[in-house]
Amino acid sequence: MSEDVPQALARVRARVDAAAREAGRDPAEVAVLLAVKTVTAERVREAITAGYPLLGQNRAQELTAIEPDLVDLEHRTHFIGHLQSNKVNAVLRWVDCVQSVDTAALAERLDRARARLAEADSAQTPLEVMIQVNTSGEDSKYGIAPHEVLDLAAAVGALPWLRLTGFMTIGANSTDTGRVRASYQGLAEVRDQVLASDAVGTGEAHELSMGMSGDLEIAIAAGATMVRVGSAVFGSRPAPA
Ligand SMILES: *Cc1c(COP(=O)(O)O)cnc(C)c1O
Repeated sequence: MSEDVPQALARVRARVDAAAREAGRDPAEVAVLLAVKTVTAERVREAITAGYPLLGQNRAQELTAIEPDLVDLEHRTHFIGHLQSNKVNAVLRWVDCVQSVDTAALAERLDRARARLAEADSAQTPLEVMIQVNTSGEDSKYGIAPHEVLDLAAAVGALPWLRLTGFMTIGANSTDTGRVRASYQGLAEVRDQVLASDAVGTGEAHELSMGMSGDLEIAIAAGATMVRVGSAVFGSRPAPA
Protein backbone atom coordinates (compact mmCIF):
# COMPACT_ATOMS: atom_id res chain seq x y z
CA MET A 1 0.00 0.00 0.00
CA SER A 2 1.33 3.41 -0.93
CA GLU A 3 1.00 6.46 1.28
CA ASP A 4 -2.49 7.36 2.33
CA VAL A 5 -4.81 9.37 0.16
CA PRO A 6 -5.15 12.53 2.29
CA GLN A 7 -1.37 12.84 2.52
CA ALA A 8 -0.94 12.43 -1.23
CA LEU A 9 -3.69 14.99 -1.86
CA ALA A 10 -1.96 17.52 0.34
CA ARG A 11 1.27 16.99 -1.59
CA VAL A 12 -0.47 17.48 -4.92
CA ARG A 13 -2.25 20.62 -3.72
CA ALA A 14 1.09 22.02 -2.51
CA ARG A 15 2.58 21.37 -5.96
CA VAL A 16 -0.36 23.14 -7.62
CA ASP A 17 -0.14 26.11 -5.27
CA ALA A 18 3.62 26.45 -5.76
CA ALA A 19 3.26 26.24 -9.56
CA ALA A 20 0.56 28.90 -9.55
CA ARG A 21 2.65 31.27 -7.44
CA GLU A 22 5.66 30.62 -9.62
CA ALA A 23 3.55 31.67 -12.61
CA GLY A 24 2.33 34.79 -10.80
CA ARG A 25 -1.18 33.36 -10.52
CA ASP A 26 -3.58 32.98 -7.60
CA PRO A 27 -3.60 29.30 -6.50
CA ALA A 28 -7.37 29.57 -6.04
CA GLU A 29 -7.68 29.82 -9.85
CA VAL A 30 -6.55 26.22 -10.25
CA ALA A 31 -8.91 23.37 -9.35
CA VAL A 32 -7.76 19.80 -8.81
CA LEU A 33 -9.88 17.17 -10.51
CA LEU A 34 -9.19 13.60 -9.43
CA ALA A 35 -8.92 11.16 -12.32
CA VAL A 36 -10.32 8.09 -10.57
CA LYS A 37 -10.17 5.39 -13.24
CA THR A 38 -9.52 1.96 -11.68
CA VAL A 39 -9.70 3.44 -8.14
CA THR A 40 -12.01 1.67 -5.69
CA ALA A 41 -15.11 3.43 -4.35
CA GLU A 42 -13.62 3.26 -0.88
CA ARG A 43 -10.54 5.29 -1.86
CA VAL A 44 -12.62 7.74 -3.89
CA ARG A 45 -14.79 8.28 -0.81
CA GLU A 46 -11.66 8.93 1.22
CA ALA A 47 -10.56 11.62 -1.26
CA ILE A 48 -13.95 13.35 -1.32
CA THR A 49 -14.06 13.33 2.47
CA ALA A 50 -10.57 14.85 2.57
CA GLY A 51 -11.95 17.88 0.71
CA TYR A 52 -11.55 16.94 -2.97
CA PRO A 53 -15.08 16.60 -4.36
CA LEU A 54 -14.28 17.03 -8.07
CA LEU A 55 -13.95 13.71 -9.91
CA GLY A 56 -13.12 12.71 -13.47
CA GLN A 57 -14.22 9.41 -15.02
CA ASN A 58 -13.01 7.94 -18.30
CA ARG A 59 -15.25 4.98 -18.82
CA ALA A 60 -19.02 4.78 -18.82
CA GLN A 61 -19.04 1.34 -17.24
CA GLU A 62 -16.83 2.35 -14.35
CA LEU A 63 -18.79 5.54 -13.85
CA THR A 64 -22.14 3.81 -13.60
CA ALA A 65 -20.65 1.15 -11.31
CA ILE A 66 -19.10 3.57 -8.81
CA GLU A 67 -21.49 6.52 -8.65
CA PRO A 68 -24.25 4.65 -6.74
CA ASP A 69 -21.67 4.17 -3.95
CA LEU A 70 -21.05 7.93 -3.75
CA VAL A 71 -24.58 9.35 -3.70
CA ASP A 72 -24.45 10.27 0.00
CA LEU A 73 -21.34 12.43 -0.53
CA GLU A 74 -21.55 15.87 -2.12
CA HIS A 75 -19.35 15.78 -5.22
CA ARG A 76 -19.19 16.67 -8.90
CA THR A 77 -18.23 14.28 -11.66
CA HIS A 78 -16.82 15.20 -15.04
CA PHE A 79 -16.62 12.75 -17.91
CA ILE A 80 -13.07 12.94 -19.31
CA GLY A 81 -12.88 9.89 -21.62
CA HIS A 82 -14.04 9.18 -25.14
CA LEU A 83 -17.84 9.03 -25.04
CA GLN A 84 -19.52 6.55 -27.36
CA SER A 85 -22.93 7.62 -28.58
CA ASN A 86 -24.65 4.54 -27.17
CA LYS A 87 -23.41 5.48 -23.68
CA VAL A 88 -24.73 9.05 -23.66
CA ASN A 89 -27.89 8.35 -21.70
CA ALA A 90 -26.17 6.20 -19.08
CA VAL A 91 -23.47 8.82 -18.54
CA LEU A 92 -25.78 11.83 -18.45
CA ARG A 93 -27.60 10.45 -15.46
CA TRP A 94 -24.46 10.85 -13.33
CA VAL A 95 -22.26 13.64 -14.67
CA ASP A 96 -22.12 17.41 -14.17
CA CYS A 97 -19.87 18.08 -17.14
CA VAL A 98 -18.65 16.27 -20.26
CA GLN A 99 -15.11 17.50 -21.04
CA SER A 100 -14.61 15.32 -24.11
CA VAL A 101 -16.91 16.86 -26.72
CA ASP A 102 -14.99 16.70 -30.01
CA THR A 103 -17.63 16.45 -32.74
CA ALA A 104 -20.81 18.35 -33.56
CA ALA A 105 -22.64 15.01 -33.72
CA LEU A 106 -21.75 14.20 -30.10
CA ALA A 107 -22.73 17.71 -28.99
CA GLU A 108 -26.12 17.37 -30.70
CA ARG A 109 -26.69 13.98 -29.14
CA LEU A 110 -25.91 15.34 -25.66
CA ASP A 111 -28.16 18.35 -26.26
CA ARG A 112 -31.10 16.16 -27.32
CA ALA A 113 -30.60 13.79 -24.39
CA ARG A 114 -30.54 16.71 -21.95
CA ALA A 115 -33.64 18.20 -23.56
CA ARG A 116 -35.47 14.90 -23.05
CA LEU A 117 -34.49 14.90 -19.36
CA ALA A 118 -35.77 18.46 -19.09
CA GLU A 119 -39.19 17.41 -20.40
CA ALA A 120 -39.54 15.10 -17.40
CA ASP A 121 -37.86 17.41 -14.86
CA SER A 122 -38.44 21.14 -15.02
CA ALA A 123 -35.49 21.80 -12.67
CA GLN A 124 -33.04 20.49 -15.29
CA THR A 125 -30.36 22.99 -16.33
CA PRO A 126 -28.15 22.90 -19.45
CA LEU A 127 -25.32 20.38 -19.30
CA GLU A 128 -21.84 21.83 -18.87
CA VAL A 129 -19.45 20.75 -21.59
CA MET A 130 -15.89 21.39 -22.68
CA ILE A 131 -14.40 20.87 -26.12
CA GLN A 132 -11.54 18.37 -26.26
CA VAL A 133 -8.75 19.57 -28.50
CA ASN A 134 -5.93 17.44 -29.90
CA THR A 135 -3.15 19.95 -29.31
CA SER A 136 -0.28 17.50 -29.78
CA GLY A 137 -1.29 16.23 -33.23
CA GLU A 138 -0.71 12.64 -32.04
CA ASP A 139 -2.92 10.22 -34.02
CA SER A 140 -3.65 8.18 -30.93
CA LYS A 141 -5.47 11.05 -29.24
CA TYR A 142 -9.10 11.99 -29.46
CA GLY A 143 -10.02 15.63 -29.74
CA ILE A 144 -10.70 18.06 -32.55
CA ALA A 145 -7.86 19.76 -34.42
CA PRO A 146 -7.07 23.29 -33.17
CA HIS A 147 -8.04 24.94 -36.47
CA GLU A 148 -11.53 23.41 -36.27
CA VAL A 149 -12.31 24.57 -32.75
CA LEU A 150 -13.93 27.89 -33.65
CA ASP A 151 -16.58 26.18 -35.78
CA LEU A 152 -17.30 23.52 -33.18
CA ALA A 153 -17.48 26.11 -30.38
CA ALA A 154 -20.03 28.10 -32.38
CA ALA A 155 -22.07 24.94 -33.00
CA VAL A 156 -21.98 23.96 -29.30
CA GLY A 157 -22.78 27.50 -28.20
CA ALA A 158 -25.92 27.48 -30.31
CA LEU A 159 -27.34 24.36 -28.62
CA PRO A 160 -29.87 25.32 -25.94
CA TRP A 161 -29.24 22.42 -23.54
CA LEU A 162 -25.45 22.69 -23.47
CA ARG A 163 -23.34 25.30 -21.69
CA LEU A 164 -19.80 25.62 -23.01
CA THR A 165 -17.48 26.24 -20.04
CA GLY A 166 -14.07 25.70 -21.64
CA PHE A 167 -11.55 23.40 -23.27
CA MET A 168 -9.70 20.21 -22.42
CA THR A 169 -6.57 18.61 -23.78
CA ILE A 170 -4.21 15.75 -23.08
CA GLY A 171 -0.69 17.10 -23.44
CA ALA A 172 1.93 15.72 -25.77
CA ASN A 173 3.21 12.36 -24.57
CA SER A 174 6.83 13.41 -24.60
CA THR A 175 9.84 13.91 -22.37
CA ASP A 176 10.49 17.09 -24.38
CA THR A 177 9.04 19.74 -22.10
CA GLY A 178 9.05 22.21 -24.99
CA ARG A 179 6.54 20.07 -26.87
CA VAL A 180 4.39 19.61 -23.78
CA ARG A 181 4.42 23.35 -23.13
CA ALA A 182 3.51 24.06 -26.78
CA SER A 183 0.45 21.82 -26.57
CA TYR A 184 -0.78 23.57 -23.43
CA GLN A 185 -0.09 27.02 -24.84
CA GLY A 186 -2.00 25.89 -27.93
CA LEU A 187 -5.10 25.20 -25.84
CA ALA A 188 -4.89 28.63 -24.22
CA GLU A 189 -4.63 30.19 -27.68
CA VAL A 190 -7.74 28.48 -29.03
CA ARG A 191 -9.64 29.42 -25.86
CA ASP A 192 -8.67 33.07 -26.40
CA GLN A 193 -9.70 32.89 -30.06
CA VAL A 194 -13.10 31.49 -29.15
CA LEU A 195 -13.68 34.14 -26.48
CA ALA A 196 -12.66 36.85 -28.97
CA SER A 197 -15.02 35.43 -31.61
CA ASP A 198 -18.09 36.62 -29.69
CA ALA A 199 -20.02 33.63 -31.05
CA VAL A 200 -23.36 33.07 -29.30
CA GLY A 201 -23.04 30.85 -26.25
CA THR A 202 -19.24 30.92 -26.04
CA GLY A 203 -18.68 33.88 -23.70
CA GLU A 204 -18.31 31.71 -20.58
CA ALA A 205 -15.78 29.29 -22.06
CA HIS A 206 -12.90 30.24 -19.75
CA GLU A 207 -11.81 26.87 -18.36
CA LEU A 208 -8.60 25.18 -19.44
CA SER A 209 -8.58 21.56 -18.26
CA MET A 210 -4.98 20.46 -18.80
CA GLY A 211 -2.07 18.98 -16.94
CA MET A 212 -1.68 15.59 -15.23
CA SER A 213 0.48 14.12 -12.47
CA GLY A 214 3.69 14.35 -14.49
CA ASP A 215 3.33 17.78 -16.05
CA LEU A 216 0.88 19.88 -14.06
CA GLU A 217 3.48 22.61 -13.43
CA ILE A 218 3.86 23.17 -17.19
CA ALA A 219 0.10 23.32 -17.65
CA ILE A 220 -0.38 25.80 -14.81
CA ALA A 221 2.31 28.05 -16.25
CA ALA A 222 0.36 27.98 -19.54
CA GLY A 223 -2.89 28.96 -17.79
CA ALA A 224 -4.59 25.74 -16.63
CA THR A 225 -7.67 26.35 -14.48
CA MET A 226 -8.14 22.65 -13.77
CA VAL A 227 -5.52 19.93 -13.55
CA ARG A 228 -6.53 16.27 -13.75
CA VAL A 229 -4.54 14.14 -11.35
CA GLY A 230 -4.60 10.37 -10.94
CA SER A 231 -1.39 8.50 -10.21
CA ALA A 232 0.13 11.21 -8.00
CA VAL A 233 -2.76 10.63 -5.59
CA PHE A 234 -3.74 6.99 -6.02
CA GLY A 235 -0.47 5.40 -7.15
CA SER A 236 0.24 3.77 -10.48
CA ARG A 237 -2.57 1.93 -12.22
CA PRO A 238 -2.62 -1.61 -13.54
CA ALA A 239 -1.75 -1.64 -17.26
CA PRO A 240 -4.87 -1.39 -19.39
CA ALA A 241 -6.11 -4.77 -20.65
C1 LIG B 1 -5.83 9.13 -16.25
C2 LIG B 1 -6.08 10.49 -16.77
C3 LIG B 1 -5.52 11.61 -16.15
C4 LIG B 1 -4.58 11.53 -14.97
O1 LIG B 1 -3.37 10.99 -15.34
P1 LIG B 1 -2.20 10.78 -14.24
O2 LIG B 1 -0.97 10.75 -15.05
O3 LIG B 1 -2.51 9.49 -13.57
O4 LIG B 1 -2.28 11.91 -13.31
C5 LIG B 1 -5.85 12.85 -16.67
N1 LIG B 1 -6.66 12.99 -17.74
C6 LIG B 1 -7.20 11.92 -18.36
C7 LIG B 1 -8.09 12.14 -19.53
C8 LIG B 1 -6.92 10.65 -17.90
O5 LIG B 1 -7.45 9.59 -18.53
